[in-house]
Amino acid sequence: MSEEEIVIVGGGISGLATALALHRDAEFRCLKRSDLLEIMAKNLPSDTISFGCQLVKMEYDPITSRTMLHLQNGTFIWAKVVIGCDGLHSVVSDWLDLKPPRLFNMCAVLGFTNYPEGHGFGNEYLRIRGDHILVGRFPINDNLIHWFVGRPRTPQDTTVAKESKLLRASTMELIKDFPEEISEVVKKCDLDLVTFFSLRHRAPWDLPLEKFRKGTVTVAGDAMHVMGPFIGQGGAAALEDAVVLGRCLAQEMVMNPERSGMNSFKWKKHEEEEEEEEEEKAKSKRIEKAIDRYVKERKMRILRLSTETYLVGTLLQTKSSVTKLLSFVILFIFFTFIGNHTLYDCGHL
Ligand SMILES: Cc1cc2nc3c(=O)[nH]c(=O)nc-3n(C[C@H](O)[C@H](O)[C@H](O)COP(=O)(O)OP(=O)(O)OC[C@H]3O[C@@H](n4cnc5c(N)ncnc54)[C@H](O)[C@@H]3O)c2cc1C
Repeated sequence: MSEEEIVIVGGGISGLATALALHRDAEFRCLKRSDLLEIMAKNLPSDTISFGCQLVKMEYDPITSRTMLHLQNGTFIWAKVVIGCDGLHSVVSDWLDLKPPRLFNMCAVLGFTNYPEGHGFGNEYLRIRGDHILVGRFPINDNLIHWFVGRPRTPQDTTVAKESKLLRASTMELIKDFPEEISEVVKKCDLDLVTFFSLRHRAPWDLPLEKFRKGTVTVAGDAMHVMGPFIGQGGAAALEDAVVLGRCLAQEMVMNPERSGMNSFKWKKHEEEEEEEEEEKAKSKRIEKAIDRYVKERKMRILRLSTETYLVGTLLQTKSSVTKLLSFVILFIFFTFIGNHTLYDCGHL
């Protein structure tokens, strides 16, 4: 058994960014996902990340205001604060009784194509819409291209998704009438890196009523607001969560410069002035307040992002002209400027 001040469940974009935000010296850049994870992990103190710690169950003890995290390896951790960054199938969001994410009728195929002699597409980000199909192509560097194809789900997907050659062939068949500069990229892709995704999302209409905090437990990233990838903002929103949560918690805590790592938070109040138990309760109350501020600040932002991506996805997947018209009108009225969501300022740490 071990005991920790703050436990972040999950080591994806959200988990690592939250850990960095709590250390308050982060620098973010626009990078390939794996590069982003590597850079964030490298900037954390070495004792921050524990591998092989699959959370399976949680229990809250109202007397000590602590949460017991049961891990798959049979051990457990007592935590004063739990931040669930455990993605789509989050154990923490289940424990918070959030509604389960819903399945989109769309799915996505993602891949990478390497051009050793250079791809020659420059920095152009290409996005083409077909009949219920969305195809995107964008360069990572002079040699590497990332592409995706969003399309309706089919009964064959369970078989096709497991076999990359079949996945590539079915994708090429689907986009055969698209410009050659797109179909060529798919044809030449690295078969080891072709991936199929069923798309799920937390429905925008579920978000306003969700309680994203129970005691000193909360969620961030996909665990909080998994959304369709149609405007490419899920990961970016996870980074914003980290900044806002880091800021809200930091307003209740100050870093103790004499110690490093996640255990180094020292409370502003002088602990010796109060009974230990009362002090613990007061700390918990302050954390709860900090989390409430974080949830309040994030709710409107994620509601807007989730609604926008839901409407863009609906335009792609629906066959009903009424739904299409309605989605278009709402998008036009409330989300007039395409790309406006990228200009959001979540403030500083
Ligand atoms: C097809 C597609 C395209 C996308 N394109 C973009 C884009 O262009 N731009 C963008 O910003 N976003 C995009 N996204 C969204 C983005 O990938 C996610 O929003 C982002 O990865 C969420 O990060 P996360 O850390 O919250 O979750 P995850 O990346 O899912 O990480 C969760 C972590 O928690 C761990 N974990 C899970 N369960 C447990 C457990 N029980 N115990 C311990 N650990 C656990 C996992 O191993 C993982 O490390 C896209 C998503 C998809 C599906």
